[in-house]
Amino acid sequence: MFSKHSFTTLVAAAVILTLALASPAAAQQRRASAQVGAKCVGGFQALFDEIEPSPLTSAEVDEVLYLLEEEKLARDVYLTLADRWQLPIFANIARAEQKHMDAVHRLVEIYELDDPITDDTIGSFTDPALGDLYLELVADGEVSLIAALEVGAKIEDMDLADLYELLAMTDNDYIEIVAYNLAKGSRNHLRAFMQALEAQDATYAPQFLSPEEFDAILDAEMERRTFYNADGEPVPACGAEVGGFGIRRGINGNSGINGNGDNSGQNNGSGSGTGECDGTGSTDGGNGPGTGECDGSGSTGGSNGNGGGGN
Ligand code: MN
Ligand code: MN
Repeated sequence: MFSKHSFTTLVAAAVILTLALASPAAAQQRRASAQVGAKCVGGFQALFDEIEPSPLTSAEVDEVLYLLEEEKLARDVYLTLADRWQLPIFANIARAEQKHMDAVHRLVEIYELDDPITDDTIGSFTDPALGDLYLELVADGEVSLIAALEVGAKIEDMDLADLYELLAMTDNDYIEIVAYNLAKGSRNHLRAFMQALEAQDATYAPQFLSPEEFDAILDAEMERRTFYNADGEPVPACGAEVGGFGIRRGINGNSGINGNGDNSGQNNGSGSGTGECDGTGSTDGGNGPGTGECDGSGSTGGSNGNGGGGN
C-alpha cells in the first residue's frame, strides 16, 4: 500500500509527534487547546490525566499532607455539627469535604506519600494542632445554631486563606488543580454559610481572608458547573457553560463551549453524562456516574446530586 518513501515519512512524523507530546511545551499546548477547544470535564480530577508529573519539594509534601488533614477537620466538624443541629447544610457540606479529601488523597497516591490519616475516625488527627482545633471548633459550634454556622464560615475563611497561600508557593500542576478546585468549593461553602447566617439575622466577619477578598467572594454568584485548570482558568463541567470567579459568566457564548448540545442552562442539565454535582440548588444538582464532583453546599436540602447531570 505505502511506498517505502511514504512509509518512512509516516514513521518520521510519528516520531516527531511522540517527541512533541512528551515535551512540556506540547503539554502546555494540549492544555491550551483543552480550554479553547471546548473540551468539558466531568470532574476536575480528569484534568490530572493531561499532566506530566513533576517531583514535589519537601515543602510541597508538607503542604499536601497538611491540606489532607485540614479537609478532614472540615468534614469532621461538619459531621459532628450535623449531629447536633438538624440543618442539612452541615451534612451536605461534609459530603463535599469528603470529596475534597479524596482529591488530596489522589496526590498522596500519585506521589506515594505517607498517608497522615491512619485513623479515619471523627476527631482523630495526626497533627496535634488540628486535633486541638477540632475540639475547639466543635465546642464553639455546640453552643447555638448561629455559633455553629459561624464555625462553618470560620472554617471556610481559614481554608481559603490557606489554599491561596498554597497557590502562591507552588508551581506544581497537580497541587494547583486541587487547590483551585477546593478553593472553589470553599467559596461556595462560605456563601452558603453566610446565607444561612443571614437567615438567622446573624453574620460573620473574616479572620483570615482580607475584608476585600471576603466581600468579593460574597458579591459573586455561586460557582456551579465549573472546574479550574492548573492555571486557575475555568473549564466547563460537561453540560455547562463556562463560568468562573472573577470572570464574567459565559465568556465563550452561552450556547455551551463544549458544543455538544444546547443544554447549557444552569438548572436543567439533561443528559446522563458526567455532570458536576454542585448541590447548591434545590432541585438540580446533577451527578454523573463516577466522576462528578459534589459541592453539597445547598443550605436547604437539595444537594444530594441526584439530578440528571449535564452531558
Ligand atoms: Mn474543603
Ligand atoms: Mn468547605
